[in-house]
Amino acid sequence: MKAKKDLKIEIMAIGSELLTPYFQDTNSLFLTERLNDLGMKVSYKTIVGDDWDDLALSIKQSLSRSDIIIAIGGLGPTKDDRTREAFATVLERKLIFNKELLQKIEERFKRRGLSMPEVNKKQSYVIDGAEILENRNGTAPGLWINARKKKIILLPGPPHELKPMFDKSVGPYLQKFKTDYTARTVLKITGLAESKIETLILDLHPDDPNLMLTTLAHPGQIEIHLSSHSKKSQEQADERVQKLEKNILERLKENVFSTSGEELEEVVGKLLRLNKKTLAVAESCSGGLIGHRLTNVPGSSDYFLQGVVAYSNEAKISALGVSPALIEKYGAVSSQVAEAMAKGIREKARSSLGIGVTGIAGPSGGTPEKPVGLVYTALAWDKGLEFIKNIFLGNRDKIKYQSSQKALDMVRRHLSKNKKGKEA
Ligand code: ATP
Repeated sequence: MKAKKDLKIEIMAIGSELLTPYFQDTNSLFLTERLNDLGMKVSYKTIVGDDWDDLALSIKQSLSRSDIIIAIGGLGPTKDDRTREAFATVLERKLIFNKELLQKIEERFKRRGLSMPEVNKKQSYVIDGAEILENRNGTAPGLWINARKKKIILLPGPPHELKPMFDKSVGPYLQKFKTDYTARTVLKITGLAESKIETLILDLHPDDPNLMLTTLAHPGQIEIHLSSHSKKSQEQADERVQKLEKNILERLKENVFSTSGEELEEVVGKLLRLNKKTLAVAESCSGGLIGHRLTNVPGSSDYFLQGVVAYSNEAKISALGVSPALIEKYGAVSSQVAEAMAKGIREKARSSLGIGVTGIAGPSGGTPEKPVGLVYTALAWDKGLEFIKNIFLGNRDKIKYQSSQKALDMVRRHLSKNKKGKEA
């Protein structure tokens, strides 16, 4: 059987605000993910402002090179919303008034006790021959146009309008044009530097064009993205990714904390619940970030008991029972104080585990002996106490984040070691 020709897909994000430093084109990321899930690759992404000539030129270019064009934004009621008019002009099609659409828009306003502003009437004009895609979350309807052997889909800009519209009215119909089956997975790793990971998996980089391995490094976390394509079957695509994933896991072992998209705080939460353990945290340089991340997980009250931000020496003494002599002798940023904080919060909160974090987040406050980025994280449990010393690089935010990551990872490794729930 002859393989289907790959269709060229283009996403065009329209709006002058997307060319400023203040707005990001996140819709195209969403669309790319959905299209990839459908086994379709994106060939071009364009961002163009509201200027008529730029927009018209961009539309002509995309029509010359792409088979499916998904244009986002500019369907609103204001003067600078020109997407509908620009596509109609380039395609040499009329804009036709649609009475039903106007009624729907008017009803939408009426439900909110408002009368429709005159400018919204513009949204009830439809490109001749287009199919209307219902917008349940806004006034701008989407349009699907088949013209010049191309599929042109116009969607509104606000993500809460575009996403459900794509899932209901676009994705299911595009599926029949898919040429590939795809599979993908993400391995999340902490506790290993990117260069170390690269050395460990160097020979596993695929030379099969149907298989892709991409490494993304963030401070405190490395992600390995695996994706595969198959013209033959979903099973073949799944198998390709799974085989590679298995080989990488054998190399990176317990440093991989998630293969299913979970964040570290979710993995830690699951392990705490599974092992029937509770946790309390005493934070200095991380400023409450560990507590914030833990409580981002729904149901965390099952295992997270208390968080204390003890920033000053006095707070470490009064809130956590750290001895003033210990601070005097070793300094507030020391392994001894981190351990005392972990022990102190564990006792105060009567939790199974206690975490203590103290460090220098900078940019000032560093010395040659104790530089900016020096962080001690400690973990206390019923039978012991341990600490880790790190010197993190980066600005204040990055140091805070890496401190929280290290502390959560200490809990994860402690619970995974010889207890239930080894699998992350
Ligand atoms: P409406 O005017 O009815 O809200 P529209 O289709 O005209 O819909 P725009 O006016 O172009 O949409 O954009 C509305 C808002 O949607 C923008 O201010 C922005 O916040 C968001 N938005 C637009 N395009 C994108 C994009 N590509 N990625 C993320 N957000 C976007």
